[in-house]
Amino acid sequence: MPQDDLTIQEAWNAVRSGLRRTIGARTFDGWLKPLNLSGFDRAHGELRLAAPSSFMANWVETHFHDHLLQAWRAMLPAVRRLVVEGASDGARPLAQAFEELDAAVPPSAPPQQRTTAGESTPFEERYTFESFVVGKANEVAYNAARTMAEGGRLGFNPLFLHGGTGLGKTHLMHAIGQDYLARHPGTRVVYMSAEKFMFEFVAAMRAKDTFSFKQWLRSADVLMIDDVQFIAGKDSTQEEFFHTMNELISAGRRLVISADRSPQDLEGIESRILSRLSWGLVADVNPADFELRLNIVTKKLETMPQANVPGEVVQFLARRISSNIRELEGALNRVVAYAMLSGKPIDMDFTQATLADVLRANQRRVTIDEIQRRVCDHYRIRQAEMSSARRAREVARPRQVAMYLAKQLTPRSLPEIGRRFGGRDHTTVIHAVRQIEKLRATDAELDADVRLLMRQLEG
Ligand code: ADP
Ligand code: MG
Repeated sequence: MPQDDLTIQEAWNAVRSGLRRTIGARTFDGWLKPLNLSGFDRAHGELRLAAPSSFMANWVETHFHDHLLQAWRAMLPAVRRLVVEGASDGARPLAQAFEELDAAVPPSAPPQQRTTAGESTPFEERYTFESFVVGKANEVAYNAARTMAEGGRLGFNPLFLHGGTGLGKTHLMHAIGQDYLARHPGTRVVYMSAEKFMFEFVAAMRAKDTFSFKQWLRSADVLMIDDVQFIAGKDSTQEEFFHTMNELISAGRRLVISADRSPQDLEGIESRILSRLSWGLVADVNPADFELRLNIVTKKLETMPQANVPGEVVQFLARRISSNIRELEGALNRVVAYAMLSGKPIDMDFTQATLADVLRANQRRVTIDEIQRRVCDHYRIRQAEMSSARRAREVARPRQVAMYLAKQLTPRSLPEIGRRFGGRDHTTVIHAVRQIEKLRATDAELDADVRLLMRQLEG
């Protein structure tokens, strides 16, 4: 096995950079970066990692064990078991025997150049259809994915999934693979990133053996290539790639492709290849709306029974972390982890403090002017009423709602907000905010108005 002479340290480096990408830099830096190799028992295939504390070791064991093991096995199939121990539990630094082991094997090329051609990437167990939450943003893609996995006659081929990063494309592909295999035992499903595909393809071309590589691909019942934008527009090899795709479609293989943009927006692809791709089903995965984000957080919490996250915080996370699901999951994990580490209860203050940077990055800049326009539109009053001195209920209440929203959705200070509402005093703004807070708890209609406006403003 070519992988076997990969040195442990090289494998570890590759595992680390791979994980940093898949689980996100922030989570990685918090939990996995501090880990050290502490030993490898080749006879039993047991690899040991040391964490700085037994708490961390525990956390890593419960949350990242499968991730780590999979990543290791992809590099070094000899690894069969993985143990994470706390430094205080007697873990050693990189052992002598270990260095000897590394010294005994010949120096080798970087890991990414050593992949064996014809190797599918293993599936992530958590990425199933059951754990995927369906909403307006992703239902077309979800239904198409299910159809792909069911087997039987396909009305479309290939399935082309596209959408921004962190929205669930990879999750759906893994779900297709696992579901298809469960329904069709003994079949072959091949999944890999476009980068890996390309690498293997080029390696096969260099070895003047694209034939067996293509044969191998054709023997798959389902072939899935993730993130093809990485190879689009590269050069002639890209053309080879898409021609191969065409051959596979003609050979009746199920094909699933994902990209961060639509086929039309992939640059430098011949139009006849493009049209061939578009014969299939092109399904976009859109950014999740608030409701879907809320459902995802709720579902995720079901897998964290130890975490006590109040409803208010769940709502807050779903509302404010709108960029993508990966960030939303990351934020939830961080809050729960930090609460456990510090022994503090999870409340709004704790959440805001823990996520300050993420929240800032997710801030869509809503302006006071936008708020006033939306509110006036909603209540059918003129925008001039926002600054007028009139106190009639039909204008005073909307004005208070707008002030409340300005406080919630913009970083403006109370005096600044007051100034934008006809030069009112900051105490008037405080009063408005309290008033609306109180009313939201008792007046369902007003609460619904506020929710609707928030949703419109935050997109
Ligand atoms: P992409 O491939 O589109 O960049 P991923 O599939 O890697 O995104 O998704 C990022 C994270 O968000 C994963 O952990 C995935 O499980 C989660 N996720 C995305 N969409 C959903 C969803 N609809 N339901 C549950 N989890 C989701
Ligand atoms: Mg992906």
